[in-house]
Amino acid sequence: MSGITAPEAEVEAALASVRARIASRCRTVGRDPQDVTLIAVSKTHSAERICAALAAGQRHFGENRVQESQAKWPSLRATAPDATLHLIGPLQTNKTADAIALFDTIHTLDRPRLAEKLAEEMLRQGRRTSCFVQINTGREPQKAGIDPSDADAFIAACRTTWNVPIEGLMCIPPVNENPALHFAFLRDIAKRNGLSRLSMGMSDDFETAIDFGATHIRVGSAIFGAREVQAD
Ligand SMILES: *Cc1c(COP(=O)(O)O)cnc(C)c1O
Repeated sequence: MSGITAPEAEVEAALASVRARIASRCRTVGRDPQDVTLIAVSKTHSAERICAALAAGQRHFGENRVQESQAKWPSLRATAPDATLHLIGPLQTNKTADAIALFDTIHTLDRPRLAEKLAEEMLRQGRRTSCFVQINTGREPQKAGIDPSDADAFIAACRTTWNVPIEGLMCIPPVNENPALHFAFLRDIAKRNGLSRLSMGMSDDFETAIDFGATHIRVGSAIFGAREVQAD
């Protein structure tokens, strides 16, 4: 009987395929695949599927909700102490303490009040959590992120006023636009601010993101399959 595939085998094969595509694209554009961190976006997916990815050697994971991560990750972490956890979803100021306690990197620093709170919490917990500033490259009113015209001033304030460790920039291009324009735009903002890390590219466009210098790609469905819609 065929047709029933163990999720473990599926995840392992999908991961291998994504890694091969990263390597191939890097070869094409003359980049070192080691310079592209694959973040497996495991939001909504069960601990079993995440374990399958861990067993296949995956170590960087992305989640978009603090509460869901608090439920899933402490026990997973116990089995894989070297796993690195990235927060890729919006962060409410009242969850800052939990986020600093749990995540290694925050990709969604998107407003001054949050920078202030993150700085406070890092000091309180004695942690230096690296952050990416999310830029709203498409200037979409419903989307989080710093307006591109405010980016330089915000990054400067993160460095001098709040002393938040800024590692790079992150964007989520508008759905119906050519992502390449947004990736190039983000790269330019990073460059003029002396930032070398770019968190950009998802299942549908990570190869294009690699062309434009992505150092962190956030890939969910291409690894774990389709997601159930998240309840609020
Ligand atoms: C869910 C999510 C991803 C992964 O999306 P896929 O299309 O499933 O690869 C990447 N980045 C962010 C910010 C997300 O919320």
